[in-house]
Amino acid sequence: MPNALVELGGIERVFRLGDSEVHALRTLDLRIHAGEYVAVMGPSGSGKSTLLNIVGLLDRPNDGRYRLEGRDVTTLSPEEQAQVRSRRIGFVFQSFHLVPRMTAADNIALPMVLAGIAPRERAERVARALQDYGLRDRADHKPDELSGGQRQRVAIARATIMLPALILADEPTGNLDRATGDEVVRLLEGLNARGVTLIIVTHDPQIGARARRRVMMEDGAIRHDTAMGADPHPSPLPPAGGGAGPLSPATGEGAGSLSPPAGRGLG
Ligand code: ADP
Ligand code: MG
Repeated sequence: MPNALVELGGIERVFRLGDSEVHALRTLDLRIHAGEYVAVMGPSGSGKSTLLNIVGLLDRPNDGRYRLEGRDVTTLSPEEQAQVRSRRIGFVFQSFHLVPRMTAADNIALPMVLAGIAPRERAERVARALQDYGLRDRADHKPDELSGGQRQRVAIARATIMLPALILADEPTGNLDRATGDEVVRLLEGLNARGVTLIIVTHDPQIGARARRRVMMEDGAIRHDTAMGADPHPSPLPPAGGGAGPLSPATGEGAGSLSPPAGRGLG
């Protein structure tokens, strides 16, 4: 059996608020292989963000086992987890989570500063990312001087600057209009086409329909997983846009490139 990139077994997450308990995740099992493109869907409060935070090592389960790339990460110290997170995982959030006082370029560079990458290499990588994401003329702008689409592109550039294996996006289009949101999804799909594993939490059925696999959550559990009942161990996927199957409309242009048409069409 091939190793999964993400392997969750019997994950429990309980939040205690005073006397009451919220069971956010219940004995949850999930395997995601390298290169997959997964949409996590379900009603508000069903545990989607809790799941993503655990996969992203931003939160710890109360019980259960998490293996990332075959390694048990539940037993790591916070420092060790931070190191794994920094090297292997990129996050994109609904509300961007950029540092308000820092320029676009400095926000993008931040993960490399924290990882101790030399200034010269940082500058090179930031310049490339600004170019790739159509932000060259916005390098010195602070987040409040950028549009929503530009902010999310800065966030994606920051999330990918360390070349992570896994991108986790929690409702990345939630604060964007449809056209800008679609562009953001295409950027993420382009990364997936280059081999990055992509997990998107979304309410949006149109976005969910684009993913190759859908995991439906309800009340802290997985109610349905399109990978179950079909092939539970999907083979490595062809580039987006080719042979995606009836449930996954071809993603068209945008796939297969880290260099989107610079700055065009993004609000
Ligand atoms: P979703 O992202 O699907 O909307 P969440 O994962 O954010 O759902 O939340 C799942 C449940 O856990 C909800 O009932 C929510 O109120 C609760 N919850 C999430 N985070 C916390 C927290 N830090 N403290 C207390 N309860 C929480
Ligand atoms: Mg959420």
